[in-house]
Amino acid sequence: MKLIGAHVSAAGGVFNAPVNAKAINATAFALFTKNQRQWQAKPLDAATITAFKARCQQLGFDANAILPHDSYLINLGAPETDKLEKSRLAFIDEMQRCQQLGLHLLNFHPGSHLKKISETECLRLIAESINLAHQQVDDVIAVIENTAGQGSNLGWRFEHLAEIISQVDDKSRIGVCIDTCHTFAAGYDLRTMEATQATFAEFDQVVGMQYLRAMHLNDSKGELGSRLDRHHSLGEGTIGWDCFRFLMQDSRFNNMPLILETINPDIWQHEIAMLRSFATEE
Ligand SMILES: [Zn+2]
Ligand SMILES: [Zn+2]
Repeated sequence: MKLIGAHVSAAGGVFNAPVNAKAINATAFALFTKNQRQWQAKPLDAATITAFKARCQQLGFDANAILPHDSYLINLGAPETDKLEKSRLAFIDEMQRCQQLGLHLLNFHPGSHLKKISETECLRLIAESINLAHQQVDDVIAVIENTAGQGSNLGWRFEHLAEIISQVDDKSRIGVCIDTCHTFAAGYDLRTMEATQATFAEFDQVVGMQYLRAMHLNDSKGELGSRLDRHHSLGEGTIGWDCFRFLMQDSRFNNMPLILETINPDIWQHEIAMLRSFATEE
C-alpha cells in the first residue's frame, strides 16, 4: 500500500497535524514536533501526547505513516565542539519527543563540515552523533535525508549515506529518506522512468534498498546537478511526472511515508490524487 501525504502544519499543537493531513486526503504525513527554527522547546505535556495519539488512531495514521523532521539548526557533523554538543543534545531531545508520541522514525539532515574539517571527519562525527543518540533513546530509527549538496552539506552522494551507515553500530535503527529534488540536484537523473530506475539501482548498489524508510516527493526548480535545494510542485519542475509515476508503480516504495514538500500547499490534495491515480494504473 502506498502511504502518501505532505509535511503539514503542527501550529497550535502536534495534535493538529493529523487533522491537517486528513483534510487533504493524505494517508501519511510529516511534521515538526517543535519549532524547527529554535533550539529550545517546552516538553510535550501528557494532554498533548494523549490527544496526538488519539487523533492519529481515529484518523487512521499508523506510526509507520508518520515522519517527524528535526530542527534545521541541528548539525550532527559540526566542526566546533560547542555547536556539536548543542546539536547532539537537541537531536536526543527530538528523538525523545518522537518516542513520547509513539513514533518510530526521525528524519534529519546529516550535517555540514563548514569547510573547517574534512568530509571524512564530518561523516565520522555524524555517525558518532547517531550512535550517542541510540544509546540514549530506544526504538526510534534515525532516518538520514539525502541533500542537494548545497554549500558544505554532506549526504548528497549515495556514498556519503553508505559511509555513515557503515559506522553506525545499530544497523536496525538507521535508515534513509530519499528526497527526489535533492537527488536530482545532486546529479542523479530522474527525468524518465528508465533514468529513475537506474538511479535507484545505483542507490541499491551503494546504500541498499533495505535502508530506505521514507521518501520526499518534490519536483525541482534547479537543473540536474545544480546542487540547488529549490523545490517545485510535481510536474512543474525540471524532473517532471515520469519519476513519480515510476515510484507509485514500484512496490519497493510501499508502506513507507511518501511526503510532499512541494511549494504550493493549496494543490497538495490534487498532487496526492494524481499520485494515487498512478498507483492504480498497475
Ligand atoms: Zn528535510
Ligand atoms: Zn526533503
